[in-house]
Amino acid sequence: MRSRYESLRNDEHTGERRCWPCTAVNAAILLFACVGVARRRSRSLAAALGVVGAAAIAFRGYLVPYTPRFAPRLVSALPGEFSLGKSGGPTPGAPDASESLGDSGGGEAVLAALLDAGVVIAAGETVYLEDDFREAWRAEMRNLRNRDDDGLAAALRAAAPEGRVVDVVNPSENGWIERDDRWFVVSDGSDDPATENWLTRPVAVAETAAVRTLADRTDLPASRRAQAAGPLRTFLERCPVCDGSVEETTAMDCCGGPGGTRPDAPDEVLACGDCDARLHTFQ
Ligand SMILES: [Zn+2]
Repeated sequence: MRSRYESLRNDEHTGERRCWPCTAVNAAILLFACVGVARRRSRSLAAALGVVGAAAIAFRGYLVPYTPRFAPRLVSALPGEFSLGKSGGPTPGAPDASESLGDSGGGEAVLAALLDAGVVIAAGETVYLEDDFREAWRAEMRNLRNRDDDGLAAALRAAAPEGRVVDVVNPSENGWIERDDRWFVVSDGSDDPATENWLTRPVAVAETAAVRTLADRTDLPASRRAQAAGPLRTFLERCPVCDGSVEETTAMDCCGGPGGTRPDAPDEVLACGDCDARLHTFQ
């Protein structure tokens, strides 16, 4: 059930996508404007401006036009603590977007194996997921989403290639950021970051379920099943964690996502229309 605020607001710049540098810059500009109006004109006019401006920031994400273009640069040029605002997102070591359970190799061989197994069906220029497989996969996702983190981690470990270990990293427990986001980190157990794959919870649910469904319904070897889990995510039509419908959209943070690395290149992504879970990032 969406609240009235949620139905009015502009999702591109509010909620999880709100850009805190933009918000802070706008709040400061609004405050200066109100003080100026109160001094030169009238207090009631300043109060009205304050209310309207604050509402604009709340609903649209920002008040001053083109804020997303200048605020990140402005904020990054400011000294000290203020510029920490933009590090509200990234978890140390976490990637911008979820990675995958399997290695990313063998793209065409993976597709060929899925076609061979009848999981994916080719029709002219396009390929689609076989209906029974989709239903079975969705049932596995429903089952897995109800598990707690440890239960999901155990299932992920069983689905991962042999010898991999899974750690649940919860940054908010370590006091790094005050946000409830967990990462499922699949690695070889050494502390070498090059061997780590970081999965969000929705992706961990989707990929674990995909591997289990492949194990049930095909004779693909375990390594191939793990490799196929990532590509299969592109076929998701329902959200692994809330059943919302999956849509193609852009991941548009004002600062180009966590860390502010790519202001001009929003990623094309598959994301849940209800809970905003990002499910696939197109390269
Ligand atoms: Zn969802």
